Amino acid sequence: MSIYNMNNYIPYGRQVISDQDVEAVIRVLRSEYLTQGPAIPSFENRLIEYCGVRHAVAMNSATSALHVAYLALGLTAGDVIWTTPITFVATANAALYCNATVDFVDVDLETANMSMAALEEKLFKCRRNKSQLPKIVVPVHMGGYSCDMRKLHELSREYGFFIVEDASHAIGGSYGADKIGACSYSHITVFSFHPVKIITTGEGGAAVTNDVSLAEAMRMLRSHGVTRDTKLLSKFEGWWYEQHYLGFNYRMTDMQAALGSSQISGLDAFVERRRYLARRYCGLLADLRLRSFTQESVIAQSSNHLFIVQLVREDQPKRNSVFEAMRCADIGVNVHYIPVYFQPFYKRMGFSEGYCQNAEEYYNGAITLPLYPELTDEQQDYVVEKLGNALSI
Ligand SMILES: *Cc1c(COP(=O)(O)O)cnc(C)c1O
Repeated sequence: MSIYNMNNYIPYGRQVISDQDVEAVIRVLRSEYLTQGPAIPSFENRLIEYCGVRHAVAMNSATSALHVAYLALGLTAGDVIWTTPITFVATANAALYCNATVDFVDVDLETANMSMAALEEKLFKCRRNKSQLPKIVVPVHMGGYSCDMRKLHELSREYGFFIVEDASHAIGGSYGADKIGACSYSHITVFSFHPVKIITTGEGGAAVTNDVSLAEAMRMLRSHGVTRDTKLLSKFEGWWYEQHYLGFNYRMTDMQAALGSSQISGLDAFVERRRYLARRYCGLLADLRLRSFTQESVIAQSSNHLFIVQLVREDQPKRNSVFEAMRCADIGVNVHYIPVYFQPFYKRMGFSEGYCQNAEEYYNGAITLPLYPELTDEQQDYVVEKLGNALSI
């Protein structure tokens, strides 16, 4: 019997909340503004500074931020976005909110990121029929490891599409000399601050961009499409505001923003601890029969949001029993992700199994192991021991 019981359940990810975080939220609760106050722009400024980008728009989720990002780029009925099937459904759903359609580009097996070869081939096939070309391509930095943004940027120039990075996993990661979110190779980058992600605001998200007009559009869309910015108004009475778009209430509260600012102070330490644990996993797992999965390279440093192991093909039939054995040992393994088009809702749109073969091959072997800053070395040893046992059955 192990010494671990339900109280020692090890989830695949969880937040770190410090006393400083708690105090930051309490300060807001005792202040004048619970929402639409000064904590919002100060959180946005922290994001701007951290990412090395010009503008940030905080919202109540990454899903909202994706929706507003797509709208700001003009996505509408008759348009198409391309993303990968290995993502959370929100990446694709947000395009459907705009009445656009979604198509999927296959992934590379080593990273589960969008395959630039598959993308290039698919674009080339559509070159004569412009209506099939995507308006926006949405790469997802799986587990926090950046896609090949230089190549993607090159293709966007050639084919004339916009790029929105779904960096829900990736704050704290880097690409070349940039932090993820610098938007050197994209129009907009979106982050999530859900508690399983790298930093949290409870629920929350943000869109960052270097383009002032995109930032203004997103800022309006997050709050009913309404503005009080005198540059944008046609009248100047003190009470005057104007609605320019059909917007939403996607606002973040000041409590959340204050928590976010406080969390950013811990971000580099969180990522450092995650990186230590990810490297330690790689060492401990070296002798197990697993396929390699890239999270680090000369060009990109992952935020190490997820630690994914890949069963070799012959072991894939065991995935369910390995998963169950880990869960029985109170280890909250998970699978990221079921290909989006496996969902009944997407099947009804005409997608069927076999559409993206690498994505399916990756999915069939994928298991996410626990990884979060407060995971101890001892807990990690326990996870590795149980995985070794489960694989050898
Ligand atoms: C978590 C996540 C989202 C959605 O984030 P929310 O903040 O929960 O809306 C979108 N895309 C990816 C890749 C995610 O991991």
